[in-house]
Amino acid sequence: MRRELAPWLTGRTVLAAERLAPAGPKYRDLPRAVGQTVCEVRRRGKFLVMPLSRGDELILHLGMTGVVSPEAPSGPAQGHVRVRLRLSGGTPDTLYFRDARRFGRLLVVPAGDYRGLPTLERMGPEPLSPDFTVAGFRRALAGSSMAVKTLLLSQRPVAGVGNIYADEALWRARIHPLTPARRVSAARAAALRTALREVLLASLEVQGTTLNDYRTVNGEVGAYLEKLSAYGHAEEPCPRCGTPLRRTVVGQRGTVFCPRCQRRR
Ligand SMILES: [Zn+2]
Repeated sequence: MRRELAPWLTGRTVLAAERLAPAGPKYRDLPRAVGQTVCEVRRRGKFLVMPLSRGDELILHLGMTGVVSPEAPSGPAQGHVRVRLRLSGGTPDTLYFRDARRFGRLLVVPAGDYRGLPTLERMGPEPLSPDFTVAGFRRALAGSSMAVKTLLLSQRPVAGVGNIYADEALWRARIHPLTPARRVSAARAAALRTALREVLLASLEVQGTTLNDYRTVNGEVGAYLEKLSAYGHAEEPCPRCGTPLRRTVVGQRGTVFCPRCQRRR
């Protein structure tokens, strides 16, 4: 998504940022972006952070159903457009942010001031960067009594892991999602770190298709969905041992695991 949006936004000046009702408090302070130029499109975890020319940052999180498109949506999707951004200096001259379920965010903050964005403020290292070390990850797990899956979703031990990738990585590393984080052994923690990186890299490889989809009307299905081993396959045989995968709920999120490979310890 960052790669896709960067050429549309970098070096362009915001002429207007229109909030279309009902947008809600997750879309705020957008008028401050008007007259400022987008210097860069960076990514931090699942957030896009765009430094603006007068010391602010435009922050975007797509949530579960957010879509950015240069084309005005038609049909029922029209009612889901939360923000319309007018840009100077080229095409596209308009970007539409639509968000059917309203888990997304689009707001302006002073650069680096994430007090209203605790997830971003406390975010762990990028999963594919050298900062995501075995030792640091083990420390993060050892310091928490939360269920390991819930801790992963908090973004604190490592950035960017959502519900699907958490399930896939825990399945690969053979860790029960409800295991208290501090009870995950050093060896399993190292395996989980490797699994997280593998899953994210494999997904990035097929992301092109996802991006093509997300610009059209149905943006939610990416090519990586076809490659998932656990998520979305409850009741089907575990690809490793053949035991039917089981669905449960962890921290209010649907969770799929193998009751045999991922025994609780
Ligand atoms: Zn299994």
